[in-house]
Amino acid sequence: MTCREAEHLIIPYINGQLTDEELEEFLLHVKNCSECREELEIYFTVDCGIRQLDDDIGVYDIRGALERSLEQSWERVRHVRMLTVLRYVFTTLSSLWLFVTFLLQLRIWWQAGIF
Ligand SMILES: [Zn+2]
Repeated sequence: MTCREAEHLIIPYINGQLTDEELEEFLLHVKNCSECREELEIYFTVDCGIRQLDDDIGVYDIRGALERSLEQSWERVRHVRMLTVLRYVFTTLSSLWLFVTFLLQLRIWWQAGIF
């Protein structure tokens, strides 16, 4: 992902509108690119500040809020990865089960003299 692509995803990230694939790429980029990370902090700070003014709460731990948001996003990425692995395992086992069932059926037909 380029910096330009990452910058376009900052607002959707803050609004929770990224797909799982976009989210993972975005998180990896801001983890390794200090400029985009800084850009994210600025947008996040502004967004967080506006929300806090609207809600009239006096907690201003914006950096902590960003860290928590990023950690929750990584948690979501790990969860999606785990589900993907489980889906592959399930698909593989299902395919194997079908294949073995077919072989057993062939054996039954062979023993019954159909072949
Ligand atoms: Zn960048």
